[in-house]
Amino acid sequence: CGIVGYVGPETPSQRPLEVVLEGLGRLEYRGYDSAGVAVLTQDGLAVAKRAGKLTNLLGDLAAHPLPPATAAIGHTRWATHGGPSDVNAHPHRVGDIAVIHNGIIENFAGLKNELLAEGAEFLSETDTEVVAHLLERAWRSEGDLTAAMLSVVGRLEGAFTLLALHAGQPGVVVGARRNSPLVVGLGERENFLGSDVAAFVSATRRALELGQDQVVTITADSVDVVGFDGEPATAREFTVDWDA
Ligand code: GLU
Repeated sequence: CGIVGYVGPETPSQRPLEVVLEGLGRLEYRGYDSAGVAVLTQDGLAVAKRAGKLTNLLGDLAAHPLPPATAAIGHTRWATHGGPSDVNAHPHRVGDIAVIHNGIIENFAGLKNELLAEGAEFLSETDTEVVAHLLERAWRSEGDLTAAMLSVVGRLEGAFTLLALHAGQPGVVVGARRNSPLVVGLGERENFLGSDVAAFVSATRRALELGQDQVVTITADSVDVVGFDGEPATAREFTVDWDA
């Protein structure tokens, strides 16, 4: 339902998690049933997620703090496939990959059967978990998250905003969108992604609106946009002019 992503400087800190949690708080108005985050740390990926209000997740994080990070993604879920539960909450992790998703993957059942036949193990009842498996497999052959995302989005039908992290690429968040919104927030030595500008408005007013069927790769100091065909694409820049 709500999505936030952040990449900052190479030196790990608590800022990625703080930015993402603040963004999730600002997206609460949209309604949701679960919340979760994934961070990239020096020891790889760490995920925390919980059914219920954001306060449940914040309580868990206070009791079990996550290590400093270079990048983070966060999600509030409005369940469509699989009831609200800790396991069905996003992010969904497969190996070194974590994925969050807004929307519905209409052809997930066929993809899931294919993955099950290949030996994939599913933990949740969500449509989203098929994307995590597909991305993890694609990353193993491509060795790059943007290339993996481009090879996976062509297989997906429906509406989706996706963000993904890979432990092997500690300064990168990759997003994709079809029939569902995704905006980029442009910062100084840090960049942001959000399902709407509320996700990052307290940090920056400079934003890019992604077009239909685009993949975006953000690092601390770069934003690259391509179409689902892999060709370079442009996104409209605008200034957020409402009061945070
Ligand atoms: N279809 C996904 C799920 O049920 C994502 C729902 C959402 O947009 O929050 O987990």
